[in-house]
Amino acid sequence: MSDEIRDVMIIGSGPAGYTAAIYLGRAGYRPLVIAGALTPGGQLVNTTEVENFPGFPDGIMGPDLMDAMRAQAEKFGAELVYDDVVSVDFGDGTDPSDSSAVKSVTVDGGETYRARAVVITTGSSYRKLGVPGEAEFSGRGVSYCATCDGFFFRGKPIVVVGGGDSAFEEAQFLSRFGSSVTLVHRRDEFRASKIMVDRARENEKISFVTNAVVESVNGGDDGATSVTLRDVVTGETRELPAEGVFVAIGHTPSTGFLGDSVKLDEDGYIVVDGASTRTSVPGVFAAGDVVDRVYRQAISAAGMGCRAALDAQSYLTQE
Ligand SMILES: Cc1cc2nc3c(=O)[nH]c(=O)nc-3n(C[C@H](O)[C@H](O)[C@H](O)COP(=O)(O)OP(=O)(O)OC[C@H]3O[C@@H](n4cnc5c(N)ncnc54)[C@H](O)[C@@H]3O)c2cc1C
Repeated sequence: MSDEIRDVMIIGSGPAGYTAAIYLGRAGYRPLVIAGALTPGGQLVNTTEVENFPGFPDGIMGPDLMDAMRAQAEKFGAELVYDDVVSVDFGDGTDPSDSSAVKSVTVDGGETYRARAVVITTGSSYRKLGVPGEAEFSGRGVSYCATCDGFFFRGKPIVVVGGGDSAFEEAQFLSRFGSSVTLVHRRDEFRASKIMVDRARENEKISFVTNAVVESVNGGDDGATSVTLRDVVTGETRELPAEGVFVAIGHTPSTGFLGDSVKLDEDGYIVVDGASTRTSVPGVFAAGDVVDRVYRQAISAAGMGCRAALDAQSYLTQE
C-alpha cells in the first residue's frame, strides 16, 4: 500500500470522471484518476461520430473527444492509473480531517490507494441481445441509444427491441425519423406504463410484434438491412426489414466492486442525496451514468461530474 494519502481519487474516466478531474485539478487537488483497464475514456471510446456534444458543430469522433478530455485533465495535474478497482474500504468516519475518514481502494494489480474524498464515475453498460450480427453491425445499424443515433435513420425502417418504458420512449422518439418503427417484444404483455403503451398505439408509424425474439441481425457492407424474428409460440421465423435496430433491454450500472460500501438502489445504481452528488458515505460522491438511469448522455454525465467535483471540494474544505 502506498503511504500517500491524497485529497481526492476519481474512479472511472468517462465524461463524468474527466470533468471531475479537470475541476479538481484546476482547484489544485492533483486528483488520482483510476481510469479502468478495458475502456479508459468510457462508452464514447466505442462509438464513431458524436454530433450532440456542444462546441463541435461538425461533430467529433468519440475517441477523439475522450482523448481531448484526458489531455485537459492531465494538463491540470490529474494523474492516471489504468487499472480496475476491485474493492473499496470507505470506513465510517465523517470528519475529513480525521484519519478514520480516509478511504482506500484496491485495484486489480494489487495496489491500494488512499484519499480523503472519492468520486465514483464508473458508468453503466447496456445489455446486449447476444445474437449473430449484433456485434458486426454495432454502429452500422445496431444502436443502444435513440437520442444519440436516431438522426442517422431518417426515412429508414427501424426496429426497437424491448417492452419497458425505455423501449416505448425510444420508439416514440424514433418515429420522428424512421419510415416505420416496429417494436419487438418477447412477451405478449408490456412492462411499460399504460400511458406509454397507449401513446405508442395512437402513433400510426409504430407497430408491434409480440411473442417474438430477434434471432439475428442481417446486412451487408452498407450496414444492417433486416432482422430475423422467431415467434416464441409457434417457432416460425421470418425476416423484417430494419436498417436501424435499437436495443432497449436495459442497462447494468458498474457498481459490483462497491459491495455494500455505499447505498445502491434495487437495480444497482448509486443513490445520491437529492440534487447533490453525495452518496450515503460522507466524502464519497457519485456522478454520471452510474447514478443516472434517465438522461444517460455525455453532456449530462459531464455536468454531473462538475457538480461532484464542487461537492468534493466543499467537503475537503469543511475543516
Ligand atoms: C455506442 C454509444 C454511443 C453513444 N453516443 C452518444 C452520443 O452521441 N452522445 C451522447 O451524449 N452520449 C452518447 N452515448 C452515451 C454516453 O456515452 C454516456 O452517457 C456517457 O459516456 C456516460 O459517461 P460516464 O462518465 O458516466 O460513464 P462511462 O462513459 O460509462 O465511463 C465509465 C468509466 O468507468 C470506468 N470503470 C468502470 N468500472 C471501473 C472500475 N471497477 N474501476 C475503474 N474504472 C472503472 C470505465 O473504464 C470508464 O472509463 C453513447 C453511448 C454508447 C454506448
